[in-house]
Amino acid sequence: MSVIPFYAEQAGECMLFEHAWQQQLPLLIKGPTGCGKTRFVEHMAARLKRPLVTVSCHDDLSAADLVGRFLIGNGSTHWSDGPLARAVRMGAICYLDEVVEARKDTTVVLHPLADDRRILPIERTGEELAAPPEFMLVISYNPGYQNLLKGLKPSTRQRFVSLSMNYPSSQVEVGIVQNEAGISEAQAKQLVQLAKALRALTEHDLEETASTRLLVSAGRLMASGLPLQLACQAAIIDALTDDLATAQALAEVVHALF
Ligand code: ADP
Repeated sequence: MSVIPFYAEQAGECMLFEHAWQQQLPLLIKGPTGCGKTRFVEHMAARLKRPLVTVSCHDDLSAADLVGRFLIGNGSTHWSDGPLARAVRMGAICYLDEVVEARKDTTVVLHPLADDRRILPIERTGEELAAPPEFMLVISYNPGYQNLLKGLKPSTRQRFVSLSMNYPSSQVEVGIVQNEAGISEAQAKQLVQLAKALRALTEHDLEETASTRLLVSAGRLMASGLPLQLACQAAIIDALTDDLATAQALAEVVHALF
């Protein structure tokens, strides 16, 4: 039996995921980086006992990277499934992380898979894969730092059930940081208190703010014995900015609190 990865629920999202899966509806998860999207999908795949195929999308990722391509070897060519085709054949949960980063031609293969046809046409081989009921397509994106042109087209997003995620409530976040980093509740509370202060700062034009992931990293450094201030400098402040003045302003928040 595989272990179910720890996931602290925020607000009913586990039930939503399960119903979407049962109803064979694809899911779009929106939320800032480091708020738990990937962990959530890992947790749900394990709970539903489905294999998980994750693809981190980037600006060079094409439809062929997802679907597959002919490879040449030993004097002959053979077809090699890409991760999406593999996931469809296995009835897996396929998670496309940061999907808006991918090349535009990927929407051509996602659309028939994401509506009620639930098919993946493989143009190169002429095959048309019908997704089994267990298959689920999950995509995520971070609405915060996308430039406007990169947003999802309405024709794409309307095929998906949407879930908005954000950083968890303080109480939930303390539990996460404590559990993930292996620190005391008091230490986790300090980090969450700091995150709240940093997140409230709007005047510093940061692309991202202190995420749960960064708090967990700081907590890990503390668990291995690094003092709080050093851990926060390395895992939170310097991870957020290269700008000296901004880093100083953030460091002042740390000093003011502790
Ligand atoms: P995202 O995919 O949104 O960028 P991740 O799922 O990778 O974020 O989360 C980053 C880290 O934060 C995880 O590895 C985990 O340690 C922690 N984390 C965030 N949210 C949760 C949560 N709700 N339950 C458990 N761990 C969480």
